[in-house]
Amino acid sequence: MKRIGVLTSGGDSPGMNPAIRAVVKKAIYHGLEVYGIYRGYEGLMEGDIKKLELKDVGSIIHRGGTILYSARSERFKTEEGQQKGVEVLKEHGIEGLVVIGGDGSYRGANQLHKKGIPTIGLPGTIDNDINGTEYTLGFSTAVNTVMEAVDKIRDTATSHERIFVIEVMGRDAGDIAAWSGLATGAESIFIPENSSEKPEMINRLTAGFQRGKKHSIVIVAEGVGSGEEFAKYIAENSNYEPRVTVLGYVQRGGSPVAYDRILGTTLGSRAVELLMEGISGKALGMEKSEISIHDFDYVFSPESKVTDPIVKLAKLSTELSI
Ligand code: ADP
Repeated sequence: MKRIGVLTSGGDSPGMNPAIRAVVKKAIYHGLEVYGIYRGYEGLMEGDIKKLELKDVGSIIHRGGTILYSARSERFKTEEGQQKGVEVLKEHGIEGLVVIGGDGSYRGANQLHKKGIPTIGLPGTIDNDINGTEYTLGFSTAVNTVMEAVDKIRDTATSHERIFVIEVMGRDAGDIAAWSGLATGAESIFIPENSSEKPEMINRLTAGFQRGKKHSIVIVAEGVGSGEEFAKYIAENSNYEPRVTVLGYVQRGGSPVAYDRILGTTLGSRAVELLMEGISGKALGMEKSEISIHDFDYVFSPESKVTDPIVKLAKLSTELSI
């Protein structure tokens, strides 16, 4: 193998840049050429491809987003689009590919693998919703971003003795909500994996204020409903008038925290080693502090989904919000 490519696809996340950097440095270290494919699969089909040198990945380890840009592409979901992708890779002499993205991007990567392009996937999403890894690139940073925002909201909540309902991202996963809720001592956390009872929340909020609590924080994962919905429920079933904050895209940005830098660096390096060993069709992750290597089909299987740790965190949070 002489030449490999790297692309980022789907929603961007902090940690993608450290992963790109590691792929480029590791490849060059082993004497390979490495090409950056810009704007995900859309850029691949259009041949938006450039050779990357060490200088191209200088000073990016601390930057959020992705220097290769990201995109979504409907065309790449078609057979014609995927064939075009294979053609372009062959024209450029690219013999192996690292795809950094979420579940959708992995599906695209699996198609390339099945069409004979050696492909390795790295989990790039803040949502932490990819099977076969305990953590995804960007998740830790997003949790820290939410934690800092909630800490600030708590200051104003205390001053006004208010309830704040905070809606956080995560698509169908409650990981960002559960982690940030526990890290900020939220009074209630609502996640799709665990149907906490709304009446129970009202009882807890009321009991808290009766005990002299100055404020309450309720964290809602977007996958379980909107912050507005929960605030309306509280307003209709108590004497409180909650304020709502939807944190939105701020959660996708920011300089990656140490864990995301290290995760990107270790997985990016391993991806290059695997391609050099002739391995393809695998998704990398981190399980029990070891790099895990699974077939894409394992990652796509609903049976591989692990929700226990998140449910446990949410339950612990409930126990502690006495
Ligand atoms: P993410 O990777 O963050 O989950 P998306 O689900 O939007 O984001 O997927 C990113 C891109 O991956 C899509 O725009 C599309 O180009 C490609 N993709 C998604 N699903 C498939 C599929 N079933 N087959 C081929 N490519 C796919």
